Amino acid sequence: MKAFYADEQKRHDPKMFLSSGAPLPNPEQPERVERLLLGAKAAGCEIVRPRAHGLAPIAAVHTPEYLEFLEHIFRRWQRIAGASEEVIPNIHPLARTGRYPASAVGQAGYHMADTACPISAETWESVCWSAWSAVEAAETVLAGAPTAYALCRPPGHHAFTDVAGGFCFVNNSAVAAQHLRRSAARVAILDVDLHHGNGTQGIFYARPDVLTISLHADPVRFYPFFWGHADERGEGPGLGYNLNLPLPRQSGDEDFLLALGAAFRRIRAFSPDALVVALGLDAFEGDPFGGLSVTTPGFSRIGEAIAGLKLPTVIVQEGGYLCDALSDNLTAFLSAFGAGAGG
Ligand SMILES: [Zn+2]
Repeated sequence: MKAFYADEQKRHDPKMFLSSGAPLPNPEQPERVERLLLGAKAAGCEIVRPRAHGLAPIAAVHTPEYLEFLEHIFRRWQRIAGASEEVIPNIHPLARTGRYPASAVGQAGYHMADTACPISAETWESVCWSAWSAVEAAETVLAGAPTAYALCRPPGHHAFTDVAGGFCFVNNSAVAAQHLRRSAARVAILDVDLHHGNGTQGIFYARPDVLTISLHADPVRFYPFFWGHADERGEGPGLGYNLNLPLPRQSGDEDFLLALGAAFRRIRAFSPDALVVALGLDAFEGDPFGGLSVTTPGFSRIGEAIAGLKLPTVIVQEGGYLCDALSDNLTAFLSAFGAGAGG
């Protein structure tokens, strides 16, 4: 299996975020890339640098206003006397029905959902290459490969059409799904990250052509709090094309696999032409977020179950933070797809 990744993705190096109000080191560290590369290589993947694909595949799921913001906000922020080193919002519109702000501070509040997605000089370049890894993986599958892996970092599934959040800027899984739509009539996105894929849900919420399913720790007391509940089913033509499967905190392998069975029943009924797996590895029992209790052998079983769907599959990296087993968990998942085989 090919694994797509460009070194520019490592340059984004966020320093802090607020957790329960306390400033902490940002866990979305460049070192994640080293661990994930090790894991992909151990599974037998061939690491391939993606081509640059320009803004078109990214603009297919994000607004021009938002992309303009992401590209230029750091330079504009630096002109503000006394501003923080990284772009971090300090005011948010209650409802986004008011005027679009002209100022950098106003736009940061408009386009950033929380403090976990600081923007520095290198962020935009890393974000573009991360998305291009997803585009290249989608093109590889469109060209006939059964599976491809995009080592996307920064991750993407908390990014909405015009809002960053939760370490995410461009929604790589959504970019991959939209790119697959070029020749796949129906695409399913299966998000197995610890956290609800709120941005992905938001992007496709009113669309019946992209089924979005997310398994995650129950958001009643967990990020992203406002989304991820079982009664969010889509709207308009998209009603019935979003499925949330929240799990009680500390659920382990058996409960996760049981919920995966429910996801598969919905996927089979939808009969997609291609699948995107939003692969968070932070459901791991030893992940610093500590929300669920999936084991390393559990990731093998989850991978085997998804591979058993036998759909053309793009695997997009989402979360999964620094811990001893991060590489092994990726190896366990990818090996289930015969990652060392050609294609
Ligand atoms: Zn996560």
